[in-house]
Amino acid sequence: LPIQSAEFVTSAVAPEGYPAGDQPEVAFAGRSNVGKSSLINCLLGRKKLVRTSRTPGRTQTLNFFRINDRFLFVDLPGYGYAKVPQKIREQWGPMIEKYLTGRKQLTGVVQIMDLRHPPTTDDLLLWNWLKEIGIPALAVLTKADKVPRGKRAKHLRDAVQRLGIPSREPVIFSAVTREGWQELWERLMPWIGY
Ligand code: GDP
Repeated sequence: LPIQSAEFVTSAVAPEGYPAGDQPEVAFAGRSNVGKSSLINCLLGRKKLVRTSRTPGRTQTLNFFRINDRFLFVDLPGYGYAKVPQKIREQWGPMIEKYLTGRKQLTGVVQIMDLRHPPTTDDLLLWNWLKEIGIPALAVLTKADKVPRGKRAKHLRDAVQRLGIPSREPVIFSAVTREGWQELWERLMPWIGY
């Protein structure tokens, strides 16, 4: 998909701060450090549009980006990082819940997990909850370059078994080799009106 423009719109912690308009929106979720910022930057072909490795402990926000003036990406704060102070962790749930259940423009959630490790308890909580509330969710297994070819099948099998989905469903991705770039865009197209 040709990216003509990609720009940061705003950060928000509550619905009053979400950008106005009715363009379709895709949200990206994942454990802290899973490679979410790298994946979004890689998709958009922008090196540092989304800042990576944010210091844990800072106030967490939803970050909105507008692409090609016609759809939005939302970078959701990472979850499951033990060093994040309790107070900030307690804000994550309600903030995310409000966004996911209340945002009309949201057409789907990309949930990023690590191909090297089976989905964590936190991953499964979010995944199952998305299914429960009926939000389309796409599993992306990233850092694929770190898994030797011969071990791919086993890692994929473990992941889909835990997620309860067929093995053709997840997109296998690497921000380093750009493996999966094309497939991921193709899977996103119906969500962003292409
Ligand atoms: P975030 O906290 O989920 O936004 O994660 P980042 O995008 O900041 O990535 C966390 C770390 O993983 C960084 O050191 C990245 O360079 C590294 N990383 C991210 N994606 C990949 C990938 O596909 N392959 C490899 N080998 N490293 C990656």
